[in-house]
Amino acid sequence: MRLGVMLNRVFRLKHNPLFDEVISYQSEIEKLYVIVPIEDMSDAAEIKKNHYYEVVQGFIDALKHHHIHPFIVPYEGLAEFVRKYDLTHILMPNDIMSYHLDIYDYPHVKLAFEKRDIQVIGYRVNHYFRPGNTLNQKGEPYKVFTSFYRANRPQLMRHDKPLDSYKQIVQYAEKGTNETKIQWQQSQDMECRAREAWMHFLAEDITHYKALTDDVSQSDVSRLGQYLAYGLLDIHEVINDLLDGYEADEVNYEAYLREIMFREFYYVLMTYYPNTATEAFSEKYRQMKWSHNEAHFEAWKKGQTGYPLVDAAMRKLNRTGYMHNRLRMVVSQFLTKHLFIDWTKGEAYFRQHLLDYDNASNVHGWQWSASTGTDAVPYFRVFNPIRQSERFDKNGYFIQSEVKELEGVSSKYIHEPTKYQKDLKTQYQVIIGTDYPKAIVDHQAAREYVMTQFKQL
Ligand SMILES: Cc1cc2nc3c(=O)[nH]c(=O)nc-3n(C[C@H](O)[C@H](O)[C@H](O)COP(=O)(O)OP(=O)(O)OC[C@H]3O[C@@H](n4cnc5c(N)ncnc54)[C@H](O)[C@@H]3O)c2cc1C
Repeated sequence: MRLGVMLNRVFRLKHNPLFDEVISYQSEIEKLYVIVPIEDMSDAAEIKKNHYYEVVQGFIDALKHHHIHPFIVPYEGLAEFVRKYDLTHILMPNDIMSYHLDIYDYPHVKLAFEKRDIQVIGYRVNHYFRPGNTLNQKGEPYKVFTSFYRANRPQLMRHDKPLDSYKQIVQYAEKGTNETKIQWQQSQDMECRAREAWMHFLAEDITHYKALTDDVSQSDVSRLGQYLAYGLLDIHEVINDLLDGYEADEVNYEAYLREIMFREFYYVLMTYYPNTATEAFSEKYRQMKWSHNEAHFEAWKKGQTGYPLVDAAMRKLNRTGYMHNRLRMVVSQFLTKHLFIDWTKGEAYFRQHLLDYDNASNVHGWQWSASTGTDAVPYFRVFNPIRQSERFDKNGYFIQSEVKELEGVSSKYIHEPTKYQKDLKTQYQVIIGTDYPKAIVDHQAAREYVMTQFKQL
């Protein structure tokens, strides 16, 4: 066989099952092409684009350091590449959902190769569970998270995988001709940085995990999502570490494992219901008449809604490509329930900005908030952004770190500046409507409107 191994978003040398898989074909390999396909990031936010190139460049350099010279090929050039080198087989991940564009996912790429008579070998590299092994007694995916969790949590166990089979690849791999040069010059060993950060989280922060999830003013949580989105860490390695440390603090470790199970749950759902990437899981809500108010959408994107917690969260996303889970729930509820704008628009905006973008978690996170998904928040439960702010950013520290116009404002006024505009003017010389926007919608009125819209369907 003339085998191409596609390494996109499995940007690690250690614990890389694609390398193990290549070795299992060693007796049949005539030629081996290590391919790093490059995604088109032209519509991604700068922060995401730069991060992607930094990670890819770091990985390419790490491969070269170990004498593996990959072929760097843009997705659009893959057809020509496989023709030129007359590939017979492609080995690629079949479960990655963090690509920037959905045309790079397994079903699309597989089809394109098969049309050219290339045999595709798909391999699960980024999730713990094989979707077919997680089903209920009727042989269907669980639609409620707690049932999925109860049934599948006992299956989590240690898996020891070979660490360094990449060392054996060198003897088979053809030397890449660098068909494409990527634009990024700086190089960092991101795999190493991710492992260090993960180790630091395990050593310092996991024992406060539950507290961290309830206080958005604390540092970012584990950022594991980002490492998994680029395949810098192996999910099996992560679970091994969590099971190893478990007895030291069962409450926090279990809380963390539960979140990892959420990721698996959404992955299984997306595998079985790929249509939900663009349409409501719940059929009756597919007819929803969403608002097309562009001014509202722009205000949400820019963090100019007049709701400080929402604005701080959106500004942080725009600035860093990261947002705390609690804040993702707040801003997605705000867009869909207060502004009544279609969740797919928010989903697309998150795709452009989030460094840890993952289609399954993002789509289902959005559908949860919009009440259109499976196991979603009921439509009559509309988060009040002011109460959320008082509860999860009690002292307003997070707001002040992003909304500089409200710097120094006391926690009494900071959560609801429109209500306290007179006090802000006299005590802080902050003019609401000039220095910082007036609330663009009223919470109670928005809540009543959304209820009537849902009740109609
Ligand atoms: C509207 C919305 C959009 C989201 N979009 C994404 C996305 O694109 N990519 C993404 O990885 N997660 C997404 N999430 C889930 C969650 O917010 C992030 O996984 C988490 O905030 C990432 O930060 P962290 O790694 O520091 O999280 P931590 O709190 O440290 O969690 C650890 C890991 O558990 C998993 N996890 C935690 N919460 C969830 C959850 N609710 N659903 C699925 N997995 C979870 C993730 O892999 C995460 O990295 C979204 C949630 C919502 C409400």
